[in-house]
Amino acid sequence: MKLTRRELLTTFLGAPLALTACRTVPNRFPEGEIVGQSDTLGHILREGRTFEVPADGWRNVKVVIVGGGVAGLSAAWKLRKLGVEDLVVLELEKETGGTSLSSSGQPVAYPWGAHYLPVPFRENVELIELLDEMLLTEGRTAEGDLIVKEQFLCRDPEERVFYKGRWYDGLYLHAGESEEDKRQLAEFQKQIDGWVNWRDGRGRRAFVVPSANCSDNAEVTALDKISFAEWLRRNGFTSERLVWYCDYACRDDYGLKFDQTSAWAGLFYFCSRIRKSGEESQPFITFPEGNGRFVRHLAESAKDKILRSYMAVSIVPNEKGADVICLADGQVRGFHCEKVIYASPVFTAPYVIRGFADDAPFDAREFQHNSWFVANLFLKDRPKPRFARDFPLAWDNVLYESPSLGYVNATHQKGIDYGPTVWTYYYPMCHEENGRTKLFNYNWRELADVCLTDMSRAHPEIYELTDRIDIMRWGHAMISPRPGLIWGEYRRKALEPYRNIHFAHTDLSGIALFEEAFYHGLRAAQKIAN
Ligand SMILES: Cc1cc2nc3c(=O)[nH]c(=O)nc-3n(C[C@H](O)[C@H](O)[C@H](O)COP(=O)(O)OP(=O)(O)OC[C@H]3O[C@@H](n4cnc5c(N)ncnc54)[C@H](O)[C@@H]3O)c2cc1C
Repeated sequence: MKLTRRELLTTFLGAPLALTACRTVPNRFPEGEIVGQSDTLGHILREGRTFEVPADGWRNVKVVIVGGGVAGLSAAWKLRKLGVEDLVVLELEKETGGTSLSSSGQPVAYPWGAHYLPVPFRENVELIELLDEMLLTEGRTAEGDLIVKEQFLCRDPEERVFYKGRWYDGLYLHAGESEEDKRQLAEFQKQIDGWVNWRDGRGRRAFVVPSANCSDNAEVTALDKISFAEWLRRNGFTSERLVWYCDYACRDDYGLKFDQTSAWAGLFYFCSRIRKSGEESQPFITFPEGNGRFVRHLAESAKDKILRSYMAVSIVPNEKGADVICLADGQVRGFHCEKVIYASPVFTAPYVIRGFADDAPFDAREFQHNSWFVANLFLKDRPKPRFARDFPLAWDNVLYESPSLGYVNATHQKGIDYGPTVWTYYYPMCHEENGRTKLFNYNWRELADVCLTDMSRAHPEIYELTDRIDIMRWGHAMISPRPGLIWGEYRRKALEPYRNIHFAHTDLSGIALFEEAFYHGLRAAQKIAN
């Protein structure tokens, strides 16, 4: 059903802003289009077609990696280090990267999904090996902690928040806080400190990256049985700004509201990147194109092994390994292989892997994804500050009164503080039932209208300044860490191979992060090489 403009803006941004926006019609609307992500795979798999590989369309290869996102590319990176050269990476899109995709452009490159990586703890040696190899590091401290070159650490100012007509420093809104707000924030911090310092009988932390190293002590895993909202309630946290902050954290990292998110995941966000209480969270490594920089490096190291526009439509396990059948530019191609690394979203397994649906070791439907839309706005210039004391443009710019996450400024890290720039706007579809179906019913003009209207809260001149706005709809953006997934039996079972097929997607952690995708890529590679 077609919505009126007012209904559309109400659905996405709430009635008050929709009402104000509909009183005026912008006299200029930028150009743009919907970009990226083919939806052909979904259609083909749902049709249940059979594919005949021509006799000369087969190839023998030891390992087939399905999916050229961070997990698949990391698996290839590791396999080559382990001396396994006989492999291919199949990627259905024209570009590798998956949800860490980026584009090159003017004045700088920009992301379509993931945009930062916190500096890893010294224990995460394989990730540190990658950062060393990329020449991002300049040594270790006396304690052995990694030192990342200053130019790759997020510049100041890192974050600001827009509230009731003004920008403020940081993500937590201090302006106007009451004594009770302050007390609750201090109490919350005490709880976080407690979890940061917590260790189990084996010396394991409650929350650490990669999550495979977290304690499985019952006190910790019990947190996965309730929502983060419930945890806050049980601990007496009612301060509006604290609650907002926790909800924002869940929307930002998981694409879920705090009442949809497991309390374990909520606390993981706040605790996993702090070495000990009283210390700052690990600094962020970032680039204009976000995590696209890591994708480029990993793809470069596997470049002769990657087959782009190769969609795996059927994997048939057999005694010797498996046959992987693909559609490649309308041609049917096949690979006889010994092992498969399945680095595609877990929920697709029953559609692609023959026999999996009848003999499933776990229910793949439990690995539910949420949807997002991401817009890149190409600005000819920056908006002027509205007040002399307004906090200046930062890397991450958050709108307190909006269900979106605001925008990231791509030129920030390059120190280009004047003139044209690219802003990446993020909107998780967590406020609606059937967010995915609805997202794909909206066209470019409607989503661009949502984005620009939202941005106009803080920047009324956004219509004049934006030359172009391109939009990507991520139908299956991120795994949803709802209560029960992370410490539930499905995830544990998915860590085991199904016949000769090893799963290796960030889904296996129940949280979508670069480090988790990297970890599972390496884990699968190591198992195969042993
Ligand atoms: C909007 C957004 C923002 C994010 N921000 C951050 C961030 O700032 N920091 C961070 O650490 N993480 C972030 N993430 C999460 C991060 O992007 C992911 O955790 C990580 O990139 C996942 O990598 P992956 O390889 O496991 O999966 P995917 O990215 O899902 O990659 C899977 C790949 O498999 C391909 N594929 C699927 N099916 C087939 C098939 N049948 N045949 C061939 N190929 C197939 C897909 O095209 C895709 O390229 C963000 C995610 C989103 C959506």
